[in-house]
Amino acid sequence: MTETALANLQNLYRIFTVPEAPDSTLGAVDHAIGENVADFLQKHIVALERSLEDIEKDFSASKIPEEPSFVSAYTDFVKQKLVAQSVHTAAPGFVGHMTSALPYFMLPLSRIMTALNQNLVKVETSKAFTPMERQVLAMLHHLIYAQKDSFYDQWIHDSQHALGAFCSGGTIANTTALWVARNKLCGPDGSFAGIAKEGFFKALQHLNSSGLAILVSRRAHYSLGKAVDLLGIGRDNLILVDTDVDNRIDMQALRMEYTQLCKRNIRPFALVGVAGTTETGHVDPLNEMADFAAEIGCHFHVDAAWGGPTLFSETHSHLLKGIERADSVTIDAHKQLYVPMGAGMVLFKDPHALSAIEHHANYILRHGSKDLGSHTLEGSRPGKAMLVHAGLSIIGRKGYGLLIDLGIEKAHKFAAMINDHQNFELITAPELNILTYRYSPAWLQDKVGQLSLEQCGEINSLLDLITQEVQKRQREAGKNFVSRTRLRSSRYHGEQISVFRSVLANPLTTTEILAEVLEEQCAIVKETEVQGLIDKIKQIIE
Ligand SMILES: *Cc1c(COP(=O)(O)O)cnc(C)c1O
Repeated sequence: MTETALANLQNLYRIFTVPEAPDSTLGAVDHAIGENVADFLQKHIVALERSLEDIEKDFSASKIPEEPSFVSAYTDFVKQKLVAQSVHTAAPGFVGHMTSALPYFMLPLSRIMTALNQNLVKVETSKAFTPMERQVLAMLHHLIYAQKDSFYDQWIHDSQHALGAFCSGGTIANTTALWVARNKLCGPDGSFAGIAKEGFFKALQHLNSSGLAILVSRRAHYSLGKAVDLLGIGRDNLILVDTDVDNRIDMQALRMEYTQLCKRNIRPFALVGVAGTTETGHVDPLNEMADFAAEIGCHFHVDAAWGGPTLFSETHSHLLKGIERADSVTIDAHKQLYVPMGAGMVLFKDPHALSAIEHHANYILRHGSKDLGSHTLEGSRPGKAMLVHAGLSIIGRKGYGLLIDLGIEKAHKFAAMINDHQNFELITAPELNILTYRYSPAWLQDKVGQLSLEQCGEINSLLDLITQEVQKRQREAGKNFVSRTRLRSSRYHGEQISVFRSVLANPLTTTEILAEVLEEQCAIVKETEVQGLIDKIKQIIE
């Protein structure tokens, strides 16, 4: 063994003991990374100089390093190759995705969470973290369902039940809700021992059905596609119902889809409403959907991964009216609760609901224990609930309400700026804090009514190229960022068009910055290649 390798191995023992403050190794690593991150965050959203292909070269070795190395050397690597080439998701000009700035206290508190390294799968490895997670679930349950104090007194720490499941995000939350709904419909009944035991085929035989289905609007999040695949339902049986001009599920179309399913002897077991669609931020008519779910006797789930925290706002909570009638609700904490990534929840109105997926094992998750692992899809889980608890305690109901109000107000202001601007067209107006728009000069918008279907199609294809190119160039310039999606637009005969998508959740984003986003996009259009596309549009019109 070489001298350095031996030294490094001794170093390995040391890395499991916490160095002493103040001038410790830990302090040095913190300092180096801290300064480096702060410096990086001041400067830009994305590092401009290097392409992804180039960056991949820094991460192309597929062999695990043979020799241990020093933490200081590794820290240097992190600074140069990772931090400098990351995306500054907290930048006020980063208004394209659902990941935004974090309150400063999340960082030191995350360190405590990591230092304690509690595992929420079992009380034996989490102790106080388990009651705390149960409290967080009760608080969110109360936000949605507002049951009486006696209800929470009874259920909050009841070892046989859980008011919800804490998980790593909306995908797992939605999957858990649909898993419960499926097992509820296909539970033990007479000689049938239930789908969990006998499987999907036997369940269909027992129900005398040709299949199961889920009904949701076209704007559904793609996590539902994964869920139906996993649950054996099949992607063809995720029925995407048409939306109205405001991107909300069309109730008449919903009824028609239901009738079609019945004719084919396919049983819908869950109706999913979206409260804040990922693409446009719209909210389905939850009350009407709750009525319909009751009428056809199926589970009503609301995917409020994005929009759920709107309930904190006294001004806007009415937009989610009817959510309290849902059997289950998904809320992502790593979106509008401003918690670092990896925190989502699903809440169930009925404290007995989760027993449909209960799982026990002898060495762990014993019957009657308070372990939360018996009610979760995931096994080992971190103490992320602590950060939700921190947010709820420090920011409070009023604080979150204010953040929601600010975001929605800003989105309306941005929509007005787009409407007033002669070069942009608002495609979907904000209901919550998300909107979509595209570049489309006033002289073109004035003529849209007089164009033939064919001309319209050609022009939309060219506008799509402009949207794509502008979005890409703006992202590469590294100052501002909006995302991009494709939507069917009722204004253009239901044609799919490319649009810029803007999410206004960062409290540090100002209207000046939003004006700058638009001006930068106009400037990019003036660049020769993009201008060439504009010239082509002019030729079509003349
Ligand atoms: C983000 C989102 C999800 C998925 O959540 P993840 O945390 O990314 O797994 C599901 N539904 C909606 C409406 C969302 O906005």
